[in-house]
Amino acid sequence: MSKKILVHICCSVDSHYFLQKMQTEYQDSKLIGFFYDPNIHPYSEYYLRLLDVKRSCKILDIELIEGEYDYINWIEATRGLENEPEKGARCSICFDRRFYISAKMAKDIGATHFTSTLLTSPKKSLKQLKSSGDALAKEFNIEFLAPDYRSNSGTQEQNIIAKKDKLYRQNYCGCLYGLKQQRESQDRLLDELRSPISNQLLPNSIEDKIRLYKRREELESLNIDYEIVKHRFLNYRVTRALVKSKKESLISHILPYSTIRNNYSRGRVEKELYGIYYFNRDEIKFITLKFYNELANTNYKSILELIDNPPIFNEEIKIREKITKSPCDLSAIFVLDCIEFQKYEINLYAKAYEDVKEEIVQIEPK
Ligand code: SF4
Repeated sequence: MSKKILVHICCSVDSHYFLQKMQTEYQDSKLIGFFYDPNIHPYSEYYLRLLDVKRSCKILDIELIEGEYDYINWIEATRGLENEPEKGARCSICFDRRFYISAKMAKDIGATHFTSTLLTSPKKSLKQLKSSGDALAKEFNIEFLAPDYRSNSGTQEQNIIAKKDKLYRQNYCGCLYGLKQQRESQDRLLDELRSPISNQLLPNSIEDKIRLYKRREELESLNIDYEIVKHRFLNYRVTRALVKSKKESLISHILPYSTIRNNYSRGRVEKELYGIYYFNRDEIKFITLKFYNELANTNYKSILELIDNPPIFNEEIKIREKITKSPCDLSAIFVLDCIEFQKYEINLYAKAYEDVKEEIVQIEPK
């Protein structure tokens, strides 16, 4: 073996291709992967990317070291640069920070060289990466390798491999600042940085993706064939909600796809028909917890228990359908302990929006 090379890894889509190219180009060298990315927010996204990198390294038979998730140091290092655009000053600091720890790790484990899979990412500046890597290599008296695996259709080849090997493809660079800028420019919810009160697994949330990619590994360990397919669907998130009566806030649960025009309504419950209480404004409906239990075949003792441990999202859609007799209804439906024929005031900031999610299709043997 002529060289021991530490390869800093940013994500599986970049590393899976980059490492295979390195294995071909540096056949006599030992490659060691190093996942050090405290720039990735939130932690669940970091966990998901690491999960995929572990799988990739296992497939390629490459040893992997996990670095520390010291995100506080990263936040400190980039303080004051929150509003910088991608490829700007914040990204230089971000590369410097990740490369400093990588170069240090390379030195600690006796590697003579280090490199980074960021070099193959089409959205990164090669010049910026090379200048950071070279400076740190000099400081630690090692060498920085900067192979160009992007040119000669490298990026296309990388995409083909990522699809073939069913890798997790993230849709933002990593940090909360870049994510915020990206979502604002796309006019999309900053869903990744929200923590819902309810423990319900929301469609296409990071947690939902973790479930999917863990399922992929389960199927692989059982040697069961599968494909990952994509669906365009109507997603839904509540960002803020409050039901008030006689100036008191009431504990309430909200069924998926509940929306109100202008996010606010004030009126009174005017009638009850077959367990459904109808508001005189904005198509709003209320049901009691008792009626919810009947519809859902559950036995919740309190609204808080329901919020804490609700049925899965799709089960609640079925409850909505039983109430409104339509799979496409967007009326706000609130579950309360007790409902009176009186005035209520409602704030509901919620969004039903077009989204794309992945799902696994298991292939049955013929
Ligand atoms: S946009 Fe990406 S490279 Fe730039 S600072 Fe954020 S995580 Fe780092």
